[in-house]
Amino acid sequence: MPVTAAQKHQIQELSESSYTTKRATVPALEEILYEPIKLLDHGFVRVIDYMGDDNAITQAARVSYGRGTKQISEDRGLIRYLMRHWHSTPFEMCEIKLHVKLPIFVARQWIRHRTANVNEYSARYSILDREFYLPDATHLAAQSASNRQGRGDVLTGAEAKRVMDLLRNDSESCYEHYMEMLNLDDNDQPLDASKSGLARELARMNLTLNYYTQWYWKIDLHNLMHFVMLRADPHAQYEIRVYADAILEIMKKWVPHSFEAFMDYRMNSVSLSSQMKGAIKRMLSGEKVSQENSGLTKREWEEMVGKMGLAA
Ligand SMILES: Cc1cc2nc3c(=O)[nH]c(=O)nc-3n(C[C@H](O)[C@H](O)[C@H](O)COP(=O)(O)OP(=O)(O)OC[C@H]3O[C@@H](n4cnc5c(N)ncnc54)[C@H](O)[C@@H]3O)c2cc1C
Repeated sequence: MPVTAAQKHQIQELSESSYTTKRATVPALEEILYEPIKLLDHGFVRVIDYMGDDNAITQAARVSYGRGTKQISEDRGLIRYLMRHWHSTPFEMCEIKLHVKLPIFVARQWIRHRTANVNEYSARYSILDREFYLPDATHLAAQSASNRQGRGDVLTGAEAKRVMDLLRNDSESCYEHYMEMLNLDDNDQPLDASKSGLARELARMNLTLNYYTQWYWKIDLHNLMHFVMLRADPHAQYEIRVYADAILEIMKKWVPHSFEAFMDYRMNSVSLSSQMKGAIKRMLSGEKVSQENSGLTKREWEEMVGKMGLAA
């Protein structure tokens, strides 16, 4: 369960409170503030706080004294210029704080992004819930034959059932043993009142990587975009991609001009090596270019064809 009834009540209380501020706020983001956006089977991402809006970026770029008299179209143009030319520091003026609930194996990929401030739920201090990730049948894929870091066709029939049974049973049984070592029953009461059980910081090592953890994660917009570039990319693992996609939707509400520029100049743009650029120039001038005479390796050629949507 992503959030309990008691947690829902706390979110409701926060949502009903409001403050007077002289700072910029973004109505579209205020609307979803605190609300969990459900992801995978037990995960979520929710916005806890933010600082700045599109205007904060242009204000910083101009080092101006106020919001100024510039037209919205000029601000949009400036943001597009900054994005296009990697003038990135104005984007660092905006920050966002998210509460994320995610499987531990996803957290291990996520934490590699070092430019955020993180505080994780302590399994030394608290007991982890019996919540583990099981892929949806449509995501229970076989190992890719061509990409060691990728997935192939979806498993079906008896093989799929066996894999799901193994995942579920192993996760359940590890949790049973976790609770037994902690000397706790399902209601977190001692199994044997005369024993204190194994320390939480040790018992947790028995849990599988699909168990859920949680953290507060704060990052500036520049580094957030870097995270999203890498993790919303089709090469990223599906389970982290769903979080990056949700963050993209949050960004769209928060800083719509920056989002638009980001999609145009980063997410949906392509980068070409000098050999690729040369091959495309030759194609544009009418020459028949093939992989063999392009100077590109087979893999580079396939990547270029894919990126540019060319006929192979
Ligand atoms: C598809 C994919 C596959 C991956 N596979 C693997 C893998 O097999 N094994 C593995 O270990 N990792 C893997 N990674 C993780 C990857 O190598 C990066 O660690 C991760 O994406 C974070 O990127 P980053 O360092 O640019 O981000 P951040 O940590 O957010 O840093 C942002 C930028 O800040 C700068 N920076 C931050 N800290 C430092 C520093 N200490 N020194 C210098 N510059 C710094 C760098 O310019 C960096 O690009 C993979 C990532 C992806 C997206």
